[in-house]
Amino acid sequence: MDPKAMENDQSTRPEYDSQMYNEAVGQFNRVAALMNLDENIADRLRVPQKATVVSFPFRHDTYTEVETIFGYRVQHLTTMGPTKGGIRFAPDVDLGEVAALAMWMTWKCAIVGVPFGGAKGGVRINPMELSRAELQRVTRRYTMEIINLIGPETDIPAPDLGTNEQVMAWLMDTYSQHVGHAVPAVVTGKPPALGGSVARREATGRGLMFLLPQASNVVDINPEGATVAIHGFGNVGRFAAVAAEQMKAKVVAVSDISGAIYDPDGISVAAAGKWVDENRYLEGYPDADFIDGDKVFALDVDVMVPAAIQNVIRADNAPDIKAKLIIEGANNPTTLEADDMLRERGVLIIPDILANAGGVTVSYFEWVQDVQKYFWTENEVVARLREIMTRAFDEVHSIAIAEEVDLRTAALIKGIRRVADAKLVRGVFP
Ligand code: GLU
Repeated sequence: MDPKAMENDQSTRPEYDSQMYNEAVGQFNRVAALMNLDENIADRLRVPQKATVVSFPFRHDTYTEVETIFGYRVQHLTTMGPTKGGIRFAPDVDLGEVAALAMWMTWKCAIVGVPFGGAKGGVRINPMELSRAELQRVTRRYTMEIINLIGPETDIPAPDLGTNEQVMAWLMDTYSQHVGHAVPAVVTGKPPALGGSVARREATGRGLMFLLPQASNVVDINPEGATVAIHGFGNVGRFAAVAAEQMKAKVVAVSDISGAIYDPDGISVAAAGKWVDENRYLEGYPDADFIDGDKVFALDVDVMVPAAIQNVIRADNAPDIKAKLIIEGANNPTTLEADDMLRERGVLIIPDILANAGGVTVSYFEWVQDVQKYFWTENEVVARLREIMTRAFDEVHSIAIAEEVDLRTAALIKGIRRVADAKLVRGVFP
């Protein structure tokens, strides 16, 4: 191995070593080579610029029990403006996962052209096991631990897996108490009552479906009446289902951790949503069949939307997938191996960094509204979101055709190119 390649070998960067980080870097290396990217720049982009690991005490409601909790905040790229990215609460999150997700946020922001670098945060805890009071204590203490890293001009968190508007409200309150005045722009995805944007909650799911007509053209399906299966019924999956129904596609299955509901004639998304609001899980929903959650991947549908967690489309279930089009709502739902297998079979995959960028796009709108203290109507937000998503798809699709590559590679080329251009003109200090 030549010395430069050895320097870049992941074994020299053990702090981030994990399946997800190695996948993110593997993807990056493949595309960087394809683009003939300057190796000095490539090397700067392989590792986060700043990564913080904290541990803090968390008192359970029982009061006698104090647990040590790990938290992370990783800022991948500070070249483009403040850093931006969600915070996930999950029982198995680690530094490598957060670093990978921060890198993907960099490409995502660059693909849709919002002026942020990528970041991500995580707290290793299972939020489903916490009472509301416990969730609030964890959120406020984690916020204090990273308080010097975040701010409207430096790093702006948002929701991700296991966090929601309420968690963002507590984060905003904790930060505001600390600085002595209300700072809505420190976080996005907060409730509209605190300066949250209208239509932020629906943005990721809606953004996915805005791409359905253009993608349908490519794979020759009719979006009207197209059958759709959705893995996940949280903030992404649920609003993707709502948007699909509004576009007259037919949602035949949605799933959550309890299982999936399935009706080949189409399920009522509103009725399923109401059921989940009242009963928390899909299980027991009376108007459809209840099947195993994993079965949604093998259904005979036109469009598959993985909208829950990572690594759900793998070498073992990829051969069962019958959909012609996969729209990635979750981050990294498809392993590299499965990605290759599906591409060979001619399945069109709209990659996460393009497909789910509607979330960060409306987060950007929210931040702009907070900074300007001037708020937009729902129609303005939705129209601007549609414009940005459809333009990004067209641009990525054109690169895919020109370079004869798949959409994931094309999206990465677009994101990496934009960031590399900015890095080159900024130069090296000192
Ligand atoms: N967590 C979301 C994502 O992965 C949203 C990030 C944001 O709005 O900043 O894209």
